[in-house]
Amino acid sequence: MNLIFLGPPGAGKGTVAARVSAEYHIPHISTGDLFRSAIKDGTELGLKVKSITESGDLVPDELTIALVRERLEEDDTDDGFIIDGFPRTIPQAEAYGTFVNVTKVLNFTLPDAEIVARLSGRRVCRNCGRTYHVVTMKTKKEGICDACGGELYTRKDDTVDSIKNRLEVYAKQTLPLVDYYEKLKLLVDVDSAPAPEAVFKAVTDVLGRRA
Ligand SMILES: [Zn+2]
Repeated sequence: MNLIFLGPPGAGKGTVAARVSAEYHIPHISTGDLFRSAIKDGTELGLKVKSITESGDLVPDELTIALVRERLEEDDTDDGFIIDGFPRTIPQAEAYGTFVNVTKVLNFTLPDAEIVARLSGRRVCRNCGRTYHVVTMKTKKEGICDACGGELYTRKDDTVDSIKNRLEVYAKQTLPLVDYYEKLKLLVDVDSAPAPEAVFKAVTDVLGRRA
């Protein structure tokens, strides 16, 4: 079961991916993590990624594809995997299709207003990194971490302007991919508005129960 998860920031993709990964015993591969671990391990590809990102450039398609390909050679992907954050462009998707048989592409959808509400309410502990939310996951004492007493702050990425900007970039990048996978009849929309448990249930309905 080779899955692609598409969806804007704030749609709860990561949470669902973690649950699906545990339920179906398949790894969750995110390109962000791949970049970070390749850099940390100092692999040949990792060193290239490092010098490119340090100069502020975007990692080119070929390099991203090479990293993904290398990761998929590991044994834990034999029964399938979830990939998220990739492909991001049509050339990436086309290249990916030459070495992976994609089973399904789950497209997590959420109205922009809801995404802004979710992300702009997020608060992070300066000390331990725990995440809270001013509406859905309040701390006992306003602005103070329940776990360690640290001070909470709003990440720069989570200001309303920054979120709107991220959503615009996302829409521009991803809409062509949605069309692409729709034409291949691989795309399934998943409504991310309900509670995480209900979203997970909807996903297992799409995927079928684990054998
Ligand atoms: Zn804390």
